[in-house]
Amino acid sequence: MSSLRFQAINAVLSRTIPEVKPPSSKISDFYGVNVFDKKKMKDFLSKEAFQSISNSIESGESLHREVSEQVASAMKAWAMNKGATHYTHWFQPLTGSTAEKHDSFFEPTLDGSAIERFSGDALVQQEPDASSFPSGGIRNTFEARGYTAWDPSSPAFIIESASGKTLCIPTVFVSYTGEALDYKAPLLKALSALDKASIDVCHYFDRSIEKVTASLGIEQEYFLVDTALFNARQDLSMTGRTLFGHMSAKGQQLEDHYFGTIPERVYAYMLDFETEALKLGIPLKTRHNEVAPSQFECAPIYEEINLAIDHNQLLMDLMDKVAKRHHFKVLLHEKPYAGINGSGKHNNWSLITNTGKNLLSPGKTPKNNLMFLTFFVNTVRAVYEHADLMRASISSVNNDHRLGANEAPPAIISIFLGSQLNDVLDEIETSRVTKKVKEDPNLWHGIPKVPSILLDNTDRNRTSPFAFTGNKFEFRAVGSSANSSAPMTILNTIVADQLVKFKTEVDKLIKKGDKKDLAILTVIKKYIKESKNIRFEGNGYSDEWEKEAANRGLSNIKTTPKALDAYISEKASELFEKTGVFSKREIHARHDILLESFYKKLQIEARVMGDMVNSIIIPAAISYQSKLVENVKGLKDIGFKPETYKAQMEIITKLSEHINFIKTNVDEMVEERKKANVIEDSREKSIAYDENVKKYFDPIRYHVDKIEQMVDDSDWPLPKFRELLFIM
Ligand code: ADP
Ligand code: MG
Repeated sequence: MSSLRFQAINAVLSRTIPEVKPPSSKISDFYGVNVFDKKKMKDFLSKEAFQSISNSIESGESLHREVSEQVASAMKAWAMNKGATHYTHWFQPLTGSTAEKHDSFFEPTLDGSAIERFSGDALVQQEPDASSFPSGGIRNTFEARGYTAWDPSSPAFIIESASGKTLCIPTVFVSYTGEALDYKAPLLKALSALDKASIDVCHYFDRSIEKVTASLGIEQEYFLVDTALFNARQDLSMTGRTLFGHMSAKGQQLEDHYFGTIPERVYAYMLDFETEALKLGIPLKTRHNEVAPSQFECAPIYEEINLAIDHNQLLMDLMDKVAKRHHFKVLLHEKPYAGINGSGKHNNWSLITNTGKNLLSPGKTPKNNLMFLTFFVNTVRAVYEHADLMRASISSVNNDHRLGANEAPPAIISIFLGSQLNDVLDEIETSRVTKKVKEDPNLWHGIPKVPSILLDNTDRNRTSPFAFTGNKFEFRAVGSSANSSAPMTILNTIVADQLVKFKTEVDKLIKKGDKKDLAILTVIKKYIKESKNIRFEGNGYSDEWEKEAANRGLSNIKTTPKALDAYISEKASELFEKTGVFSKREIHARHDILLESFYKKLQIEARVMGDMVNSIIIPAAISYQSKLVENVKGLKDIGFKPETYKAQMEIITKLSEHINFIKTNVDEMVEERKKANVIEDSREKSIAYDENVKKYFDPIRYHVDKIEQMVDDSDWPLPKFRELLFIM
């Protein structure tokens, strides 16, 4: 029987492309059909109930009991009408994926028959057993129970699967004692802090603004690989990345994949998951090939952050589910293949008022420009002040492979503004802010005008972790598999806090007698000076930048366990308490959970590596070596001289060297693992894994990849990079 590798290749070559038929060629015909959105609520609810829930969505205040009763019954009617039989609270525990616990609408009655029921109470709150979700020690001291509580700002939706339909209700997840155990709860707190702080600052310019919403557009990168090839590699199936594999002769060097024609099989898959996503109201808009072979990207139109993140979490689930129908496995890992680009999830962020103004979009009038500069410079100042938290917010074992590696933004947080705005800030910094309006129409209170239309795409800097792109900031360092809530909670919290500080400083100057505009300009000017060091327009991937950043005093923490320290610093605790985003207990619990996940993932990788070396790689090497030995013996037997089998002898020797190297190193790695495993403290344990266990990965891989290049191709058991990346 041929090996799994060749069976897999044959399977891929004989694939047929499943037919994909969207319900209509017009997306507007089916967009959002599976969402209980405002329009449907209006149809299913009384006028008063609709008004009441609309208010509560806007204000975040809780609903009256009778109203929730009405909403529940309307939701049930709508969902059953569409064929749903079950409902579930849908939440985002700190495992990184989404969680569901399905309950049936069905309820038996006393007379032995049954009805379908869904009460307001069941809608608003549930008590799933929280004991198996990570809680960072919070649950040990109290009860195992946790609560899920309805988030009315994200609409309920129906998930369809081949065997049934389920009504999903987005919720937050908190412990029995009220601490957040999920990603959504702190995000909502950060957004509300930001809303409040932004409104206060907006009122300097426009009293009519009543709400500021943070918006987010998430670009999602991913790899596709055929399931048969995927299943033939336990490293991919157990860890999401290849632990071994020699780079194929052709990789991404020709850059012929980027924006190239989408392969037909992939196109069918994209169309399929896009259709499912659109039915769920996820406004997917773009799709294209990415730089690496078999790497792709999709992006929706931006939405309010909370919704954008729910949609991204849902999208990742959908992509995975739909992939099965196409015999694809979608790899969301940040670095599935060494030697070619990894995947990110660019977070495009801006602030938009209820009057429809994007606060990060420069305006035409001086007043608008000052408003723009206020929010723009405060964001820069916030990221400067809390760069360490921004770094912590994107840390994970997977993203460590990307940050600081050659094709992703480095572990140094810097901000790219583009030459125009950079010049504007430089001019403001050096200009004399005056009380008199200058004669020169290009100057206003002594400061230059901001061009209302920025040269956007022309001077994009793809090497910056945090770049201004015309009317939004783009946090590019977020990992492809991440829940964007982590970085977005931090970004919105630090900007909220910064805006509060800004207002205090401006008000102080106004009190002292300064005119409002001048007071604002004075503080902006000071912030520009203070935060100058974080601005960088050059190549973020270069070695020079690493040196310069060190001179500027910017931190460059390359690994997760140390990057996470920022979460529990005194400074961070103060920030989180002040803004109400995390209590000390919550952030410490979260810190612990992240560390636990870090070392556990490394532990799994190390085990898989050992297993594969011992049970796949070494046997393959020995078996090939034995063939060579037989060959040499035969040649000798029939009288050949040693110089005729010199090459064979050399390969035999080399193979022995490689085998010995990987065997010894795997054994040593196992010893280091044992030592690390007995460490109690999760930070120490993570560091031990990171420094003492992980250091074996690259050398072992190097020698395994050498063996791969020597062994007879037809005897090599694992699908090779050229197959994983180029056959589909
Ligand atoms: P690219 O960065 O590849 O040029 P786009 O400019 O189309 O792509 O934007 C990428 C993402 O940014 C999309 O999801 C888009 O909707 C989103 N986006 C565009 N404008 C804003 C904005 N003002 N606020 C937040 N996201 C935005
Ligand atoms: Mg982009």
